[in-house]
Amino acid sequence: MIELAERHTFKLPAQCRSLIELKSSDDVEQLVFEEPYYLLGEGSNTLFVDNFYGTVICNRLLGVCIEEQEDSYLITAAAGENWHNFVADLRVRSIDGLENLALIPGSVGAAPVQNVGAYGVEVATFIEQVTAWDIKEKRWVSMNREACQFAYRDSVFKQNPGRWLITSVVFRLPKDWQPVTHYAPLNQLQGHVSAQKIFDTVVEVRQKKLPDPKVIPNAGSFFKNPVITKAQLDELLQKWPDMVYFPVADNQVKVAAGWLIEHLGLKSAFVGDAAVNPHQALVLINKAQATGSDITQLALKIMKQVVDASGIMLEPEVRLVGQHGLVQLAVKK
Ligand SMILES: Cc1cc2nc3c(=O)[nH]c(=O)nc-3n(C[C@H](O)[C@H](O)[C@H](O)COP(=O)(O)OP(=O)(O)OC[C@H]3O[C@@H](n4cnc5c(N)ncnc54)[C@H](O)[C@@H]3O)c2cc1C
Repeated sequence: MIELAERHTFKLPAQCRSLIELKSSDDVEQLVFEEPYYLLGEGSNTLFVDNFYGTVICNRLLGVCIEEQEDSYLITAAAGENWHNFVADLRVRSIDGLENLALIPGSVGAAPVQNVGAYGVEVATFIEQVTAWDIKEKRWVSMNREACQFAYRDSVFKQNPGRWLITSVVFRLPKDWQPVTHYAPLNQLQGHVSAQKIFDTVVEVRQKKLPDPKVIPNAGSFFKNPVITKAQLDELLQKWPDMVYFPVADNQVKVAAGWLIEHLGLKSAFVGDAAVNPHQALVLINKAQATGSDITQLALKIMKQVVDASGIMLEPEVRLVGQHGLVQLAVKK
Protein backbone atom coordinates (compact mmCIF):
# COMPACT_ATOMS: atom_id res chain seq x y z
CA MET A 1 0.00 0.00 0.00
CA ILE A 2 1.17 3.55 -0.77
CA GLU A 3 0.90 6.52 1.62
CA LEU A 4 -1.46 9.33 0.59
CA ALA A 5 -1.15 11.78 3.50
CA GLU A 6 1.40 13.94 1.66
CA ARG A 7 -0.61 13.82 -1.56
CA HIS A 8 -3.65 15.72 -0.29
CA THR A 9 -3.67 19.02 1.58
CA PHE A 10 -5.88 17.77 4.44
CA LYS A 11 -3.12 15.23 5.17
CA LEU A 12 -5.34 12.45 6.53
CA PRO A 13 -3.65 9.13 7.20
CA ALA A 14 -4.67 6.93 4.26
CA GLN A 15 -3.12 4.58 1.74
CA CYS A 16 -3.94 3.37 -1.76
CA ARG A 17 -3.27 0.05 -3.43
CA SER A 18 -1.28 1.52 -6.34
CA LEU A 19 -0.30 4.91 -7.72
CA ILE A 20 0.62 5.92 -11.25
CA GLU A 21 2.21 9.20 -12.35
CA LEU A 22 1.41 10.25 -15.91
CA LYS A 23 4.15 12.31 -17.54
CA SER A 24 3.25 12.22 -21.24
CA SER A 25 0.32 11.76 -23.61
CA ASP A 26 1.76 8.34 -24.50
CA ASP A 27 1.50 7.34 -20.82
CA VAL A 28 -2.17 8.36 -20.93
CA GLU A 29 -3.01 6.38 -24.07
CA GLN A 30 -1.24 3.27 -22.86
CA LEU A 31 -2.74 3.22 -19.38
CA VAL A 32 -5.31 0.56 -18.59
CA PHE A 33 -7.81 2.30 -16.31
CA GLU A 34 -8.74 -0.51 -13.99
CA GLU A 35 -11.64 0.24 -11.58
CA PRO A 36 -11.59 1.60 -9.00
CA TYR A 37 -9.29 4.51 -9.83
CA TYR A 38 -9.18 8.14 -8.74
CA LEU A 39 -7.79 11.03 -10.82
CA LEU A 40 -5.63 13.27 -8.63
CA GLY A 41 -4.01 16.65 -9.20
CA GLU A 42 -2.46 18.28 -6.13
CA GLY A 43 -5.10 16.98 -3.73
CA SER A 44 -6.28 20.41 -2.52
CA ASN A 45 -9.92 19.58 -3.06
CA THR A 46 -9.72 15.89 -2.15
CA LEU A 47 -9.84 14.15 1.22
CA PHE A 48 -8.85 10.50 1.46
CA VAL A 49 -11.10 9.60 4.39
CA ASP A 50 -10.10 5.91 4.40
CA ASN A 51 -7.66 3.56 2.72
CA PHE A 52 -8.52 3.48 -0.98
CA TYR A 53 -8.46 -0.02 -2.45
CA GLY A 54 -7.74 1.18 -5.95
CA THR A 55 -5.30 3.14 -8.12
CA VAL A 56 -4.57 6.82 -7.73
CA ILE A 57 -3.66 8.35 -11.10
CA CYS A 58 -1.62 11.54 -10.75
CA ASN A 59 -1.37 13.99 -13.58
CA ARG A 60 2.17 15.30 -14.00
CA LEU A 61 1.90 16.58 -17.59
CA LEU A 62 3.83 19.85 -17.87
CA GLY A 63 4.22 22.68 -20.37
CA VAL A 64 2.72 26.05 -21.31
CA CYS A 65 2.43 27.47 -24.81
CA ILE A 66 1.46 31.12 -25.42
CA GLU A 67 0.20 32.32 -28.80
CA GLU A 68 -0.29 36.04 -29.32
CA GLN A 69 -3.21 36.91 -31.57
CA GLU A 70 -4.50 40.29 -32.71
CA ASP A 71 -6.84 40.96 -29.82
CA SER A 72 -6.07 38.20 -27.33
CA TYR A 73 -3.64 35.60 -26.08
CA LEU A 74 -4.35 31.92 -26.54
CA ILE A 75 -2.60 29.94 -23.84
CA THR A 76 -2.40 26.18 -23.67
CA ALA A 77 -1.35 24.81 -20.29
CA ALA A 78 -0.75 21.16 -19.46
CA ALA A 79 -2.92 19.79 -16.68
CA GLY A 80 -0.07 19.08 -14.27
CA GLU A 81 1.10 22.71 -14.09
CA ASN A 82 0.62 24.37 -10.71
CA TRP A 83 -2.29 26.83 -10.93
CA HIS A 84 -0.79 29.70 -8.94
CA ASN A 85 2.59 29.50 -10.70
CA PHE A 86 0.73 29.58 -14.02
CA VAL A 87 -1.27 32.68 -12.97
CA ALA A 88 1.86 34.39 -11.57
CA ASP A 89 3.83 33.66 -14.73
CA LEU A 90 1.11 35.25 -16.90
CA ARG A 91 1.16 38.29 -14.63
CA VAL A 92 4.93 38.66 -15.12
CA ARG A 93 4.30 38.60 -18.88
CA SER A 94 1.54 41.26 -18.48
CA ILE A 95 -1.12 38.87 -19.75
CA ASP A 96 -4.12 39.77 -17.63
CA GLY A 97 -7.44 38.23 -16.66
CA LEU A 98 -6.65 35.50 -14.14
CA GLU A 99 -5.26 37.75 -11.36
CA ASN A 100 -8.40 37.41 -9.18
CA LEU A 101 -7.71 33.66 -9.10
CA ALA A 102 -4.18 33.99 -7.71
CA LEU A 103 -3.08 31.68 -4.89
CA ILE A 104 -5.83 29.11 -5.41
CA PRO A 105 -3.99 25.86 -4.67
CA GLY A 106 -3.97 22.94 -7.08
CA SER A 107 -3.31 22.08 -10.69
CA VAL A 108 -4.39 23.59 -14.00
CA GLY A 109 -6.15 20.32 -14.88
CA ALA A 110 -8.44 20.47 -11.86
CA ALA A 111 -9.41 24.12 -12.37
CA PRO A 112 -12.18 23.36 -14.92
CA VAL A 113 -13.48 20.43 -12.83
CA GLN A 114 -15.11 22.61 -10.22
CA ASN A 115 -14.85 25.82 -12.27
CA VAL A 116 -12.62 27.46 -9.67
CA GLY A 117 -13.62 30.95 -8.71
CA ALA A 118 -12.71 33.75 -6.34
CA TYR A 119 -13.29 37.47 -5.92
CA GLY A 120 -15.98 37.71 -8.62
CA VAL A 121 -14.21 35.69 -11.32
CA GLU A 122 -14.78 32.10 -12.44
CA VAL A 123 -12.19 30.36 -14.57
CA ALA A 124 -14.89 29.26 -17.07
CA THR A 125 -15.02 32.83 -18.44
CA PHE A 126 -11.54 32.38 -19.92
CA ILE A 127 -11.63 28.72 -20.96
CA GLU A 128 -11.70 28.22 -24.73
CA GLN A 129 -11.22 24.47 -24.76
CA VAL A 130 -10.39 21.50 -22.58
CA THR A 131 -8.45 18.57 -24.03
CA ALA A 132 -9.06 15.25 -22.32
CA TRP A 133 -8.67 11.52 -22.70
CA ASP A 134 -12.12 9.94 -22.77
CA ILE A 135 -11.48 6.95 -20.53
CA LYS A 136 -14.71 5.19 -21.51
CA GLU A 137 -14.36 5.63 -25.27
CA LYS A 138 -10.54 5.43 -25.25
CA ARG A 139 -10.06 8.49 -27.46
CA TRP A 140 -8.93 12.11 -27.30
CA VAL A 141 -11.64 14.79 -27.09
CA SER A 142 -11.60 18.58 -27.31
CA MET A 143 -14.44 20.20 -25.44
CA ASN A 144 -15.45 23.81 -25.89
CA ARG A 145 -16.85 25.94 -23.08
CA GLU A 146 -20.43 24.93 -23.80
CA ALA A 147 -19.59 21.21 -23.76
CA CYS A 148 -17.92 21.68 -20.36
CA GLN A 149 -21.32 22.75 -18.89
CA PHE A 150 -19.78 25.14 -16.40
CA ALA A 151 -21.84 26.33 -13.44
CA TYR A 152 -21.10 27.49 -9.88
CA ARG A 153 -18.32 25.12 -8.69
CA ASP A 154 -19.56 22.62 -11.23
CA SER A 155 -18.92 21.20 -14.70
CA VAL A 156 -19.54 18.12 -16.81
CA PHE A 157 -16.27 16.75 -15.37
CA LYS A 158 -17.52 17.06 -11.81
CA GLN A 159 -20.85 15.51 -12.77
CA ASN A 160 -19.13 12.50 -14.40
CA PRO A 161 -16.16 11.73 -12.16
CA GLY A 162 -13.57 9.46 -13.74
CA ARG A 163 -14.97 9.74 -17.27
CA TRP A 164 -12.40 12.20 -18.70
CA LEU A 165 -8.77 12.71 -17.79
CA ILE A 166 -8.04 16.35 -18.54
CA THR A 167 -4.60 16.72 -20.09
CA SER A 168 -4.55 20.40 -21.08
CA VAL A 169 -6.63 23.55 -20.94
CA VAL A 170 -6.73 26.36 -23.52
CA PHE A 171 -7.41 29.85 -22.13
CA ARG A 172 -8.29 32.94 -24.17
CA LEU A 173 -7.29 36.16 -22.43
CA PRO A 174 -8.45 39.31 -24.28
CA LYS A 175 -5.94 42.17 -24.58
CA ASP A 176 -8.79 44.55 -23.80
CA TRP A 177 -8.54 43.76 -20.08
CA GLN A 178 -11.17 44.98 -17.63
CA PRO A 179 -10.55 44.83 -13.87
CA VAL A 180 -13.10 42.89 -11.81
CA THR A 181 -13.32 44.68 -8.48
CA HIS A 182 -16.93 44.43 -7.33
CA TYR A 183 -16.10 41.91 -4.57
CA ALA A 184 -14.76 42.98 -1.19
CA PRO A 185 -11.99 43.81 -0.49
CA LEU A 186 -11.14 44.65 -4.12
CA ASN A 187 -13.99 47.20 -4.10
CA GLN A 188 -11.94 49.22 -1.61
CA LEU A 189 -9.11 49.83 -4.10
CA GLN A 190 -8.83 53.49 -5.04
CA GLY A 191 -7.83 55.20 -8.29
CA HIS A 192 -6.43 53.32 -11.29
CA VAL A 193 -6.55 49.64 -10.48
CA SER A 194 -3.92 47.60 -12.32
CA ALA A 195 -3.86 43.81 -12.74
CA GLN A 196 -0.72 43.79 -10.57
CA LYS A 197 -2.58 45.62 -7.80
CA ILE A 198 -5.41 43.07 -7.92
CA PHE A 199 -2.94 40.18 -7.95
CA ASP A 200 -1.02 41.58 -4.95
CA THR A 201 -4.21 42.36 -3.00
CA VAL A 202 -5.68 38.92 -3.62
CA VAL A 203 -2.44 37.23 -2.54
CA GLU A 204 -2.19 39.39 0.60
CA VAL A 205 -5.82 38.89 1.62
CA ARG A 206 -5.74 35.14 0.98
CA GLN A 207 -2.55 34.78 3.01
CA LYS A 208 -4.21 36.59 5.92
CA LYS A 209 -7.63 34.98 5.67
CA LEU A 210 -7.01 31.36 4.78
CA PRO A 211 -4.86 28.89 6.67
CA ASP A 212 -1.82 27.82 4.65
CA PRO A 213 -2.34 24.07 4.04
CA LYS A 214 1.41 23.53 4.54
CA VAL A 215 1.05 24.81 8.12
CA ILE A 216 -2.53 23.86 9.00
CA PRO A 217 -3.80 21.08 6.72
CA ASN A 218 -7.13 22.00 5.07
CA ALA A 219 -8.91 21.86 1.73
CA GLY A 220 -10.25 25.42 1.50
CA SER A 221 -14.03 25.86 1.60
CA PHE A 222 -15.41 22.55 2.79
CA PHE A 223 -19.02 23.28 1.76
CA LYS A 224 -20.52 25.07 -1.23
CA ASN A 225 -22.49 28.22 -0.55
CA PRO A 226 -26.07 26.91 -0.90
CA VAL A 227 -28.36 28.44 -3.51
CA ILE A 228 -31.95 29.00 -2.35
CA THR A 229 -35.08 30.67 -3.74
CA LYS A 230 -36.19 34.20 -2.83
CA ALA A 231 -39.21 32.70 -1.00
CA GLN A 232 -36.89 30.58 1.19
CA LEU A 233 -34.74 33.65 1.73
CA ASP A 234 -37.67 35.80 2.88
CA GLU A 235 -38.62 33.14 5.41
CA LEU A 236 -35.08 32.90 6.77
CA LEU A 237 -34.66 36.68 6.93
CA GLN A 238 -37.61 36.89 9.29
CA LYS A 239 -35.69 34.69 11.70
CA TRP A 240 -32.18 35.96 10.91
CA PRO A 241 -32.35 39.53 9.49
CA ASP A 242 -28.55 39.81 9.31
CA MET A 243 -28.02 36.60 7.32
CA VAL A 244 -25.36 37.08 4.62
CA TYR A 245 -26.38 36.26 1.02
CA PHE A 246 -25.63 37.31 -2.57
CA PRO A 247 -28.07 37.51 -5.48
CA VAL A 248 -27.27 35.00 -8.26
CA ALA A 249 -30.32 34.95 -10.54
CA ASP A 250 -33.82 36.42 -10.76
CA ASN A 251 -35.33 34.15 -8.18
CA GLN A 252 -32.20 32.77 -6.50
CA VAL A 253 -29.67 33.82 -3.90
CA LYS A 254 -26.49 32.24 -2.61
CA VAL A 255 -26.29 32.07 1.18
CA ALA A 256 -22.90 32.36 2.88
CA ALA A 257 -22.45 28.86 4.33
CA GLY A 258 -19.75 30.21 6.66
CA TRP A 259 -22.27 32.62 8.16
CA LEU A 260 -24.74 29.78 8.81
CA ILE A 261 -22.05 27.68 10.51
CA GLU A 262 -20.84 30.57 12.62
CA HIS A 263 -24.34 31.78 13.48
CA LEU A 264 -25.30 28.32 14.75
CA GLY A 265 -22.42 28.46 17.22
CA LEU A 266 -20.36 25.88 15.35
CA LYS A 267 -17.21 27.96 15.04
CA SER A 268 -15.59 26.05 17.85
CA ALA A 269 -16.98 22.65 16.84
CA PHE A 270 -14.57 19.75 16.56
CA VAL A 271 -14.42 15.97 16.45
CA GLY A 272 -11.05 14.57 17.48
CA ASP A 273 -8.47 16.69 15.66
CA ALA A 274 -10.87 17.79 12.91
CA ALA A 275 -12.16 21.29 13.66
CA VAL A 276 -13.90 24.33 12.25
CA ASN A 277 -11.31 27.00 11.48
CA PRO A 278 -11.95 29.70 14.12
CA HIS A 279 -11.06 32.48 11.62
CA GLN A 280 -13.14 31.28 8.66
CA ALA A 281 -15.97 28.90 9.55
CA LEU A 282 -16.34 27.53 6.02
CA VAL A 283 -12.88 26.01 6.22
CA LEU A 284 -12.45 22.81 8.23
CA ILE A 285 -8.95 22.00 9.43
CA ASN A 286 -6.81 19.11 10.57
CA LYS A 287 -5.29 20.33 13.85
CA ALA A 288 -2.71 17.52 13.92
CA GLN A 289 -3.78 13.90 13.89
CA ALA A 290 -7.32 14.04 12.45
CA THR A 291 -8.65 10.86 10.89
CA GLY A 292 -11.09 10.39 8.04
CA SER A 293 -13.73 9.40 10.57
CA ASP A 294 -13.15 12.62 12.58
CA ILE A 295 -13.67 14.87 9.58
CA THR A 296 -16.66 12.91 8.27
CA GLN A 297 -18.38 13.07 11.66
CA LEU A 298 -17.66 16.78 11.99
CA ALA A 299 -19.05 17.50 8.52
CA LEU A 300 -22.20 15.46 9.25
CA LYS A 301 -22.68 17.23 12.57
CA ILE A 302 -22.52 20.63 10.83
CA MET A 303 -24.85 19.51 8.02
CA LYS A 304 -27.40 18.18 10.52
CA GLN A 305 -27.46 21.34 12.63
CA VAL A 306 -27.71 23.58 9.57
CA VAL A 307 -30.56 21.59 8.01
CA ASP A 308 -32.45 21.40 11.31
CA ALA A 309 -32.18 25.16 11.88
CA SER A 310 -32.64 26.45 8.33
CA GLY A 311 -33.96 23.65 6.11
CA ILE A 312 -30.83 24.10 3.97
CA MET A 313 -28.86 20.98 3.10
CA LEU A 314 -25.18 21.89 2.85
CA GLU A 315 -23.28 20.10 0.13
CA PRO A 316 -19.54 19.44 0.44
CA GLU A 317 -17.46 21.27 -2.14
CA VAL A 318 -14.56 18.89 -1.50
CA ARG A 319 -14.35 15.35 -2.87
CA LEU A 320 -14.23 12.61 -0.22
CA VAL A 321 -12.60 9.34 -1.26
CA GLY A 322 -13.29 6.18 0.73
CA GLN A 323 -12.35 2.52 0.33
CA HIS A 324 -13.93 2.06 -3.11
CA GLY A 325 -14.14 5.59 -4.49
CA LEU A 326 -16.14 8.77 -3.94
CA VAL A 327 -18.21 8.97 -0.76
CA GLN A 328 -21.33 11.15 -0.49
CA LEU A 329 -22.36 12.67 2.84
CA ALA A 330 -26.05 12.97 3.63
CA VAL A 331 -28.15 13.70 6.70
CA LYS A 332 -31.90 13.41 7.23
CA LYS A 333 -33.97 16.60 7.43
C1 LIG B 1 -6.44 26.93 1.17
C2 LIG B 1 -7.33 26.58 -0.01
C3 LIG B 1 -8.03 27.58 -0.66
C4 LIG B 1 -8.85 27.30 -1.75
N1 LIG B 1 -9.50 28.32 -2.36
C5 LIG B 1 -10.30 28.09 -3.42
C6 LIG B 1 -10.98 29.17 -4.08
O1 LIG B 1 -10.84 30.32 -3.73
N2 LIG B 1 -11.79 28.86 -5.12
C7 LIG B 1 -11.95 27.58 -5.56
O2 LIG B 1 -12.70 27.38 -6.53
N3 LIG B 1 -11.31 26.54 -4.96
C8 LIG B 1 -10.49 26.76 -3.92
N4 LIG B 1 -9.85 25.72 -3.29
C9 LIG B 1 -10.06 24.35 -3.76
C10 LIG B 1 -8.96 23.84 -4.73
O3 LIG B 1 -7.83 24.65 -4.67
C11 LIG B 1 -9.44 23.80 -6.18
O4 LIG B 1 -10.59 22.99 -6.29
C12 LIG B 1 -8.36 23.22 -7.13
O5 LIG B 1 -8.77 23.39 -8.46
C13 LIG B 1 -8.06 21.76 -6.86
O6 LIG B 1 -6.92 21.41 -7.60
P1 LIG B 1 -6.16 20.05 -7.29
O7 LIG B 1 -5.19 19.81 -8.40
O8 LIG B 1 -5.56 20.09 -5.94
O9 LIG B 1 -7.37 19.03 -7.35
P2 LIG B 1 -7.57 17.60 -6.68
O10 LIG B 1 -8.02 17.74 -5.27
O11 LIG B 1 -6.38 16.76 -6.93
O12 LIG B 1 -8.80 17.09 -7.55
C14 LIG B 1 -10.02 17.77 -7.47
C15 LIG B 1 -11.03 17.10 -8.41
O13 LIG B 1 -10.60 17.22 -9.76
C16 LIG B 1 -10.43 15.94 -10.35
N5 LIG B 1 -9.24 16.05 -11.19
C17 LIG B 1 -8.02 16.48 -10.81
N6 LIG B 1 -7.20 16.49 -11.88
C18 LIG B 1 -7.94 16.05 -12.92
C19 LIG B 1 -7.65 15.83 -14.30
N7 LIG B 1 -6.44 16.08 -14.82
N8 LIG B 1 -8.64 15.36 -15.11
C20 LIG B 1 -9.89 15.12 -14.61
N9 LIG B 1 -10.21 15.30 -13.32
C21 LIG B 1 -9.23 15.76 -12.50
C22 LIG B 1 -10.26 14.99 -9.20
O14 LIG B 1 -10.66 13.67 -9.54
C23 LIG B 1 -11.19 15.61 -8.16
O15 LIG B 1 -12.50 15.25 -8.45
C24 LIG B 1 -8.99 25.97 -2.20
C25 LIG B 1 -8.28 24.94 -1.55
C26 LIG B 1 -7.46 25.25 -0.48
C27 LIG B 1 -6.67 24.15 0.19
